[in-house]
Amino acid sequence: MAKIFCIANQKGGVGKTTTAVNLAAGLAKLGQRVLLVDLDPQGNATMGSGVDKRTLAHTVYDVLLLTVGIAEARVTSERCGYDVLGANRELSGAEVELVALEERETRLKQALADVDGDYDFVLIDCPPSLSMLTLNGLCSAHGVVVPMQCEYFALEGLSDLVNTIKQVHANLNRQLQVIGLLRIMFDPRITLQNQVSDQLQAHFGDKVFNTVIPRNVRLAEAPSYGLPGVIFDPSSRGAKAFVAFAQEMIARIQKF
Ligand code: ADP
Ligand code: MG
Repeated sequence: MAKIFCIANQKGGVGKTTTAVNLAAGLAKLGQRVLLVDLDPQGNATMGSGVDKRTLAHTVYDVLLLTVGIAEARVTSERCGYDVLGANRELSGAEVELVALEERETRLKQALADVDGDYDFVLIDCPPSLSMLTLNGLCSAHGVVVPMQCEYFALEGLSDLVNTIKQVHANLNRQLQVIGLLRIMFDPRITLQNQVSDQLQAHFGDKVFNTVIPRNVRLAEAPSYGLPGVIFDPSSRGAKAFVAFAQEMIARIQKF
C-alpha cells in the first residue's frame, strides 16, 4: 500500500515545492516507487520535475473533475525516476468548479485508490493556501510534512495549519497526522534561526525531523534546469541533505 504525504504550509516561498521534488527524487534514488502530485496551479513541481506543464494532455485538474483517471493522466519523468501527475493554470478554475460537485473534498483520494498498488510513496505538493485543493490533499493523505524556515513569523502560521489538520482529522480523515516539521533554508550562522530552531524542538519534540536542509544555492538553481537538486548536483550539500531526509522518512513510516 502506498504511503501518501502532503507537503503543506499555507505560506508561500517556504520550500514546499523544493521539498516535494527533492524528496521524490531522493526516495526514487533509494529504490522507492514514487508518484508526485502537483496540486498548485503554478505548476512548479511539474516543471521542476522536467515535465512541461504547457504541453500536458491531462493534469490533476482533469482527475479532480473525474474526466480521466490517474493511470491516464500521469507521466513518467525518466531523468528524475518518478511519476508526475502534473498541474497548470487550468487548476485554478477547479476551486470554483468543485464547489458545486458531490464529494468534492475526496476526489483526489478516490482517484489515488486506483493506482495505490503502483507506488510506495505518493507526495502531494500543496498550494500556499488552505483551500479546496489543499483540502483534497489532506483528505487523501496519511500524514503531512511541513517545511518551514526558522524565522520570526514561522510559528504564527503554524497554528492555523495545525488547526486545519485537526479539523480534517476530526471530520474527514481519521488517519491524518503531522509527520513532522522540516527545517529548510537553514543557515546556522544566523542566531535567530538557531533560536527558532531550538524553540521548535522544545515545542514539538520528535515532530521535528532530525534532518535539516541547509540554504544551498544549487537547490535554488536546479528548477531552471527542470530538475530537482538531488539529480542536478548530487554532490551538493542540499542534495545530500534531501537524500538523508528521504532515508529519515522511510525510517519514520516503519513506525506506523
Ligand atoms: P513554496 O513551494 O513553498 O512556495 P519553493 O520550494 O518554491 O517554496 O521555494 C521558494 C524559493 O526558495 C525558490 O526560489 C527555491 O528555489 C528557494 N529555495 C528553497 N529551498 C532552498 C534552499 N534549501 N536553499 C536555497 N534556496 C532554496
Ligand atoms: Mg510551491
